[in-house]
Amino acid sequence: PPSSLVHYFKLLVLLALARLTMHVPDEDVLSSLGLLRLDGHFSFHDVSAMARDFGNQCSFLPAAVLHPGSVSDIATTVRHVFSLGEGSPLTVAARGHGHSLMGQSQAAQGIVVRMESLRGPRLQVNDGGVSPPSVDAPGGELWINVLRETLKHGLAPKSWTDYLHLTVGGTLSNAGVSGQAFRHGPQVSNVNQLEIVTGRGDVVTCSPDDNADLFYAALGGLGQFGIITRARIALEPAPKMVRWIRVLYSDFESFTEDQEMLIMAENSFDYVEGFVIINRTGVLNNWRASFKPQDPVEASHFQSDGRVLYCLELTKNFNSDDTDTMEQEVTVLLSRLRFIQSTLFHTDVTYLEFLDRVHTSELKLRAQGLWEVPHPWLNLLIPRSSIRRFAKEVFGKILKDSNNGPILLYPVNRSKWDNRTSVVIPDEEIFYLVGFLSSAPSLSGYGSIAHSMNLNKQIVEFCEEAGIGMKQYLAPYTTQQQWKAHFGARWETFERRKHRYDPLAILAPGQRIFPKAS
Ligand code: FAD
Repeated sequence: PPSSLVHYFKLLVLLALARLTMHVPDEDVLSSLGLLRLDGHFSFHDVSAMARDFGNQCSFLPAAVLHPGSVSDIATTVRHVFSLGEGSPLTVAARGHGHSLMGQSQAAQGIVVRMESLRGPRLQVNDGGVSPPSVDAPGGELWINVLRETLKHGLAPKSWTDYLHLTVGGTLSNAGVSGQAFRHGPQVSNVNQLEIVTGRGDVVTCSPDDNADLFYAALGGLGQFGIITRARIALEPAPKMVRWIRVLYSDFESFTEDQEMLIMAENSFDYVEGFVIINRTGVLNNWRASFKPQDPVEASHFQSDGRVLYCLELTKNFNSDDTDTMEQEVTVLLSRLRFIQSTLFHTDVTYLEFLDRVHTSELKLRAQGLWEVPHPWLNLLIPRSSIRRFAKEVFGKILKDSNNGPILLYPVNRSKWDNRTSVVIPDEEIFYLVGFLSSAPSLSGYGSIAHSMNLNKQIVEFCEEAGIGMKQYLAPYTTQQQWKAHFGARWETFERRKHRYDPLAILAPGQRIFPKAS
């Protein structure tokens, strides 16, 4: 529709204006970087890869890329930029795996720190003994590598994201949410200690007991207070196998009531998620289809008549010597659910296969050239009291199908989130994560960015007008006013922490929260 195109072109104009008004550091400043004594090195050319991200909608070229050889390289660089004072336009962005959606890990004409280059200290597993087991991971380490290493010790982190080719520092700067969060909380609730380079260039070790203010600030802190160079992550004994179950519902109330019952139940499943299927066709919906059920029944076999279907996704962990117990527990739990009986599918896979499931889909999409397309994703946190109203308006009305990508919908409980962190969540004990994970492979029409952005806009506007009490996750706000509204009463703390740890607003400029003082 014309209005969505207008919206899209407005965005392009805004981005173009941002480029024009961008401060370009002078040659002296850049050459002063080249004089710093480092274990790693800077590159000043071939920096275009650092101006891209998964969202594929924003591209800001940095002036330089730091490939840190040590934590001290990062500290030296930030300290140097800090010493240039308020007059310097230079900013510094840590880049994890660049899986941001709207340029959050980019730094226009600034310095991008390629965190994946930070190869040391390596992953160190503490098997337990007197203290609970944990792993020390570099901030730029991918979660898949953390998993592989800890599995060698029969251990694994407790809380995950759906996709593991993301970095430790990147997800901890947001929250890190998946189907285990109802039991263990998000990833930010499962960290014992952090090492951080602040916006002054100080290297600080922090935990709930030492420098606690910085510790909580950095968790979910959108990279605003420091660069996480190491995280100590809590571990638990890893199961060998997972029973992976999917069942379908046609009734939203039963679907969500069952989800809520499961996240509150004793001895429940180990993972509870769900997704929404609206007039499903096409290949993009299969991007998570690494699932190979023993008794495959496709959703399309149902006479859904344009109705919306809801898929509940569950897992139960087990080892080969306790298969019978697992089967009994699963049977009891499933008997309490109200899904369409003929739609029970399950498969048994290794723990690694289950956790790395989205990567299987990534490989398929890459092979078809459908991974590196724009991703106009929208991730919302919706309070339980509004979820039915939200679903009624959005599924089938605003959204007529789910062919451009999966729609996730599952509840989590606030009591597992620590309100001392910087993460912003709705003010209710149970809230839902609703992710519209659209791909935009076409330049125009259906399947274009403009089309998805228009739908996203309608959904957000509905939430605002109907007073849904929604908060955005991985929010793409561009003005401080929007961020203030997002943080609400917590803005004061966020701003105070910024002044304390990054007073010149050097860090993570791509979040567009605090413009650099200059
Ligand atoms: P980047 O995108 O590179 O960085 C993210 C932000 O953190 C930037 O502002 C950056 O400057 C800052 N940053 C990066 N590293 C550091 C550091 N070491 N210290 C301080 N700041 C840093 N999220 C979930 O919660 N649950 C999911 O299930 C989930 N699934 C996903 C699936 C896919 C396919 C994708 C692409 C993303 C998914 N995400 C999910 C979102 C993910 O959490 C974000 O993309 C996040 O930004 C992590 O990506 P990254 O490691 O590449 O970090």
